[in-house]
Amino acid sequence: MIDPIFHLIEKESARQREGLQLIPSENFASKNVIRAVGSPLMNKYSEGYSGRRYYEGNDVIDEIEDIAVNRAKKLFGVPHVNVQPYSGSPANSAVQMAILRPGDTLLGMKLTSGGHLTHGHPGVTFGGVFFNTVQYGLTQDARINLDEIRRLAHEHKPKLMIIGTTAYPFILPFKEFYAIAEEVGAYVLADISHVAGLVVAEAHPNPVPFAHVVMTTTHKTLRGPRGAMIMVTEKGLLKDSELAEKIDKAVFPGLQGGPHDNVTAGIAVVLGEAATPEFREYGKRVVKNARALASALTAHGVKLVGGGTENHLMIMDFSEFGGGTQVAYAMACAGMYANKNTVPNEPNSPFYPSGVRLGTPAITTIGLQEKDMEKVADWIARVIGRVKTHKLPKEKTKRAEFIKNFKQQMRADELCLAVKKEVAEFLTNQH
Ligand SMILES: *Cc1c(COP(=O)(O)O)cnc(C)c1O
Repeated sequence: MIDPIFHLIEKESARQREGLQLIPSENFASKNVIRAVGSPLMNKYSEGYSGRRYYEGNDVIDEIEDIAVNRAKKLFGVPHVNVQPYSGSPANSAVQMAILRPGDTLLGMKLTSGGHLTHGHPGVTFGGVFFNTVQYGLTQDARINLDEIRRLAHEHKPKLMIIGTTAYPFILPFKEFYAIAEEVGAYVLADISHVAGLVVAEAHPNPVPFAHVVMTTTHKTLRGPRGAMIMVTEKGLLKDSELAEKIDKAVFPGLQGGPHDNVTAGIAVVLGEAATPEFREYGKRVVKNARALASALTAHGVKLVGGGTENHLMIMDFSEFGGGTQVAYAMACAGMYANKNTVPNEPNSPFYPSGVRLGTPAITTIGLQEKDMEKVADWIARVIGRVKTHKLPKEKTKRAEFIKNFKQQMRADELCLAVKKEVAEFLTNQH
């Protein structure tokens, strides 16, 4: 008997094939990346680092990890790389553990402004519990607020300052941010999890000259397996000659045990792919497609946070009817997967936010071009038109019931089902 898990994997594969994957942190890894991750390398234990392992039988693993590290060094132009973090969140914890001691001050971007939980979100996260965290936000026109950052940096004297975003549609001001950190003597961590693939493609500025540590996940625009890398720059070693050692020690034995060798191999493979002219072309096309999608949506009367995009993502703003949850859900019923998201100065609540975040990394990987973005915008606009009258109730106690009824209605909605069919047909012809 076939384990039902494999039927479910086939079902999920079909969903990924037949729908538009618009979640900007998702992508399609290549067959070779999947081969590496699904390989017998997963059977091995390799605690420690290349040449310094706690178990025998690691000669091949050492070679693989060395290749991954060397490819990353070359691609990003950095002197030290650790490819062992299990994912982006533990990688950020490792950087904080390497640089900070409990009670030290960390300056990061607010979650509701587009920052990541692991940048010191107060109260519930590792950084927010063990360190004194201070958070910066956005200007009126939805850009990173450098004046606020300078004021907070001088007032609180953080030891670590983090720049990096998960829901921010504009270019990150690495140079200006670094200049502020220098004024107060702080370490800078640039978290490029979202834009790493664009950085490699030179479709986004490179933080390496303006940071001591650069962290990236490997599975977003970089298109590799789920994992992360921590890179120490020349500036980082100049500031702290022991920084590389501190980072390695924080990853293992500080926070982790054995590395996932199969993932390390997948990272090596994707770093090989990312060094090609095709990948460079891909990164540039992601941004072009995002611009085209943003202007097509705007032409349909959709309001975008900050008025557009300079990278791979955009945030649609439905604060006039409190519609983030409704639009994201109805889009999914129509075969277009995005996620609800807060907008700056969110008037509703993080649980029923006003925005929907969407991006072009995955649809660009499967070959969609600028000319296709009008079609995509058209489908999205039809769904928005359908749900616009479903206003989020002002009374908080009525919201859960309202959303439950709304969802039930959308699952059988004729317009959504019709769009879903069109999307699937379009993608079948695409493949
Ligand atoms: C995705 C992301 C992370 C966390 O990565 P996980 O692999 O989900 O743990 C950290 N920082 C930023 C900016 C991200 O976008």
